[in-house]
Amino acid sequence: MHIYDYIIIGSGLTGLTIAKKINQFTENILVLEAQDFSGGNNRPVQFNNQTINSGLRFFPATDAAKKSIAFLEELLGSTVFAGTAENNIETYEASGFKKFVGFGEKSPEFYEQLSYFLGNEESVLEQTPYQWTQQLADSLQSKIQMKSIVTRFGFEALDSETPRLTHVTVNGTKPVYAHNFIFAGPIKDLGLLIPDDVLNIRAKAKLKKATAWQGVGVDLFHTATIEKTNQFLLNGTTDDDIGPCIGRFLKPIETNDGVVTGQISQWMSFIDSESAEDTENIGLVLKKIKRQIKRAFPEVGDSIKKERISVSPVLSGADLKLSANGTLPKVPNLWIASSQANSYQNLLGSLMQAQFVLSSLGFAPTLEADITVEAPKANLEAEA
Ligand SMILES: Cc1cc2nc3c(=O)[nH]c(=O)nc-3n(C[C@H](O)[C@H](O)[C@H](O)COP(=O)(O)OP(=O)(O)OC[C@H]3O[C@@H](n4cnc5c(N)ncnc54)[C@H](O)[C@@H]3O)c2cc1C
Repeated sequence: MHIYDYIIIGSGLTGLTIAKKINQFTENILVLEAQDFSGGNNRPVQFNNQTINSGLRFFPATDAAKKSIAFLEELLGSTVFAGTAENNIETYEASGFKKFVGFGEKSPEFYEQLSYFLGNEESVLEQTPYQWTQQLADSLQSKIQMKSIVTRFGFEALDSETPRLTHVTVNGTKPVYAHNFIFAGPIKDLGLLIPDDVLNIRAKAKLKKATAWQGVGVDLFHTATIEKTNQFLLNGTTDDDIGPCIGRFLKPIETNDGVVTGQISQWMSFIDSESAEDTENIGLVLKKIKRQIKRAFPEVGDSIKKERISVSPVLSGADLKLSANGTLPKVPNLWIASSQANSYQNLLGSLMQAQFVLSSLGFAPTLEADITVEAPKANLEAEA
């Protein structure tokens, strides 16, 4: 029976960043990936015969963001950061477009999710986040095993005070053994993967109930084009609690002869995962996004030819208490690396949580104090 030093579950940005760094110290690691591709959420999509990012792929230009990019560049051995650009967000009001300066007293409930996109500056990236993941995957010395869904964590001495995590079950049947495990999949899934003796029913119920936000994305192809490249925050046509949406226009599409045939724009809003269970509510969010676009850009709203809708898995809000070093309480050899365990539940959170886990394992320097301050570990309190 082979025993790996580390099994990493999930080959999204988080899992691959961790795998690549640990690989510098040992090749005896295995990455398990449920899909038949690596890259997770970052994988581009096909829409209207174009390859586009899934979602906005916005990356801020804060100090924490720049430091995380520097960490990634060192791992990749190539340049990612190409400078910064002003994130000049505009909003639409009855009087026309104006610079977005805040929500005043009426912040949307998902303000925390949205605020990430609202900073003054954004990073200009030489490579897309998907390209980061593919470079990380291609340069790994160890195996990524595709189509391998981890369906259970396997313990020895489950009845004792100190149950020992020894293996994971893959695709419901095959046990794979390791000394250490790093989970970089959706945090909510831990409720299904961990036996009740280790993660009790109360903790599981909390995991299930915690308010968690899902992204609702809409990609539109329209024949009317808008020449602005900044982000737009469209805020409400009716006084309901569905909230604003954020989006931007991509480069107009041209034929080989330079004739513009139209343009794709990408928009997103959020919905709490409990209401998202009712598809009618997702329908309402979509309807509102389109209504807001039509109000701000009537020519776009009137010339939509195709649309693509995506509802993301839970992006945030999993209220799970972890030990101070990022392991699951009672399971000292299981690190939780999911970006949802970080206070940034996005690309930046992926890189920061990866660094946090790597430093806790001794493979990377401890995060500098100012970074730790920028990412309060709301979900990483030590178990009392
Ligand atoms: C539509 C959309 C738009 C977004 N826009 C932005 C943006 O503009 N800016 C930004 O910063 N962030 C954005 N995000 C968030 C960002 O994409 C994610 O935070 C980031 O990709 C998370 O990376 P990850 O590696 O933690 O997770 P993922 O990319 O989800 O990767 C997890 C991987 O684990 C695998 N996996 C899961 N469970 C198992 C299992 N049981 N066994 C084996 N494998 C498993 C999955 O198949 C997947 O490959 C967006 C997300 C979405 C969905």
